[in-house]
Amino acid sequence: MSDESQNESRIDDTSAALLRARALVLRDIVACGADVHGIVDVLDAAVREREWWVQRWPEGIEFLAGQVAQDVQDRLVDTEGRWPPCPQHPDEALQLEPPMGADPHWICGRGCGEIAALGELPRQA
Ligand SMILES: [Zn+2]
Repeated sequence: MSDESQNESRIDDTSAALLRARALVLRDIVACGADVHGIVDVLDAAVREREWWVQRWPEGIEFLAGQVAQDVQDRLVDTEGRWPPCPQHPDEALQLEPPMGADPHWICGRGCGEIAALGELPRQA
């Protein structure tokens, strides 16, 4: 395999991981009823910044979806408030565990425990 085709396959993996991360986080945004225009812009900005990050740190590809979710979470605190809310505690934001790992899950810190995997939050009314 030439160097050039190896580079191409890594770019393809990166694109696929970025699309997967966007899809997972978008699913949770929609599940929380927060699919307003501004939030999708926040998501897309986070995905663009993580593209730069993962190109410099290819090992981070496994953590990409969790990182994008936490970027969105950090940005929404300033504008929309706590996201994603716990189904039982609307004023409590769920946290991703592990914060830096593959296959992260949303956890409520007020006793509900694990709510769902990233991308699988239950739809809220
Ligand atoms: Zn809770």
